[in-house]
Amino acid sequence: MTVGVWILGDQLWQNQAALNRTDDNFSLPVILIESWQHVQQRRYHRQKLVLIWSAMRHFAEELRGGGCQVTYTTSGDFEAPLKAWIQAHNITEVRVMAPNDRPFLQLIQNLQLPCKTTLIPNNQFLWTETEFKDWASSRKRLLMEDFYRASRQRFQVLMEGDKPVGGQWNFDKENRQPPKGKLDTPKPLRFEPDAITQEVIAQVKSLSFATYGNIEPFRWAVTREQALQVLDNFIEQCLPAFGPYQDAMVTGEETMWHSLISPYLNIGLLHPLEVIQAAETAYLEKHLNLNSVEGFIRQILGWREYIRGMYFYVDADYFENNWFNHTQPLPKFFWDASKTDMNCLRQVLTQVEGSGYAHHIQRLMILSNFGLIAGISPTEVEKWFHSAFVDAYDWVMQTNVLGMGLFADGGVLASKPYAASANYINKMSDYCRGCKFDRTVRSGENACPFNFFYWDFLARHRDKLQSIGRMSFILANLDKMSPAELATIRQKAAEWHLGSH
Ligand code: FAD
Ligand code: SF4
Repeated sequence: MTVGVWILGDQLWQNQAALNRTDDNFSLPVILIESWQHVQQRRYHRQKLVLIWSAMRHFAEELRGGGCQVTYTTSGDFEAPLKAWIQAHNITEVRVMAPNDRPFLQLIQNLQLPCKTTLIPNNQFLWTETEFKDWASSRKRLLMEDFYRASRQRFQVLMEGDKPVGGQWNFDKENRQPPKGKLDTPKPLRFEPDAITQEVIAQVKSLSFATYGNIEPFRWAVTREQALQVLDNFIEQCLPAFGPYQDAMVTGEETMWHSLISPYLNIGLLHPLEVIQAAETAYLEKHLNLNSVEGFIRQILGWREYIRGMYFYVDADYFENNWFNHTQPLPKFFWDASKTDMNCLRQVLTQVEGSGYAHHIQRLMILSNFGLIAGISPTEVEKWFHSAFVDAYDWVMQTNVLGMGLFADGGVLASKPYAASANYINKMSDYCRGCKFDRTVRSGENACPFNFFYWDFLARHRDKLQSIGRMSFILANLDKMSPAELATIRQKAAEWHLGSH
């Protein structure tokens, strides 16, 4: 019997479950496939294509150096190269680690291969699907905060016995400072493309199908060694002050104190447990502020695991949810930042075009907030996010964009919609200072679109929103508005949609 291992582009880790190498199978046949058809299913950020293909090619080199018989192929589909490889190596069983995304699982299940295919449970997350389901099925509410506490206890992270270190589970209140004065932000660690990456860049430049974003400068890590350097740099330079300005947005400061590790965690170059342990060790050895360390660990041990667990827990047709029945088309400027005068959107969209990255609050409170209050079709917003970000995958996209960002699931994930007017954006960023719209105006000539859409959204969905306890204070403000002003605001929102955006 000959076992061969098929490694997917987001499973680039020597200890991944299917690649279980022992003395007996040390030089086992391994295959990695770059599929052209697969990447034409949607537009992708050009830097994402470079990142994945370069990381795959580097990983193939690493495996070759370690004695594996590596087949690396560029092909239309997956089936033809798999069949040829099975035949060439007399393979009787193809092992593949279970993919993170449902559509890819289906693709594997539909393959017609001449031998057995075995799916090995995925070990790139801390909670397996079954463990998450066990946790969720015994509960009335599925709050992230409850899951996070269970995670802290289960993995004994930042714990003193059964109590949280510092006497509190969550220091979020200390981590929402607006940006004030000149912030001394750390420089992110970036890498010059090596020969392999340059070759991929040239290849992506010559693609004849639609892609998105700028290909250069490309500065992402493409090997585990580089990803570990990014982690070390984050722990040294950013973690000590990660917390306070976590939600702040500043023109020209694309990364602030954020880690930029999601692209690497999502393709296996880093494992969540090593990241959490590195942060906890730094806390203990360097006596860092607990609000920063806890705030960061919560992102990985809480949010990331919860988002992935929920993806498999909710029904497979979750992506069809549209609780508010939003149907407006995605404005064209999402594909070309220069086409909008809204400075907050222009800044963030320009940044995404340039690097495929935006930090959490830019994604949540600028991009998806706009999609929510302007009533854009959730499917269109989700598709755009999937195309635009270097760290985007089905498992992380659906629950984040549809659930958290757009409340399209009616509150399965979030306890209230993340809808905000210019007030919030002005408080947490400097974007409004350079904008042609007036952040204080909601219905006049220069009214900020975030203002008229916000009030229009509340009025449009008053009945539905009333059922959400946390919305009552906001709805009371809506009720104080004169009917005449509300009518003018709603008229502005309707006119905006009729304009060419
Ligand atoms: P940091 O701020 O340094 O956080 C550390 C890590 O925590 C991240 O690297 C990430 O792995 C994890 N994390 C934090 N929040 C989440 C979350 N909600 N879901 C999953 N992981 C989380 N994350 C992606 O990995 N891919 C996406 O395509 C993606 N799309 C998003 C879309 C929307 C609308 C929203 C609201 C969030 C999205 N996120 C996504 C989550 C989060 O915004 C990014 O993980 C984070 O901004 C990545 O930057 P960072 O590595 O500098 O993160
Ligand atoms: Fe954005 Fe409105 Fe502020 Fe302009 S005024 S930056 S559109 S929130």
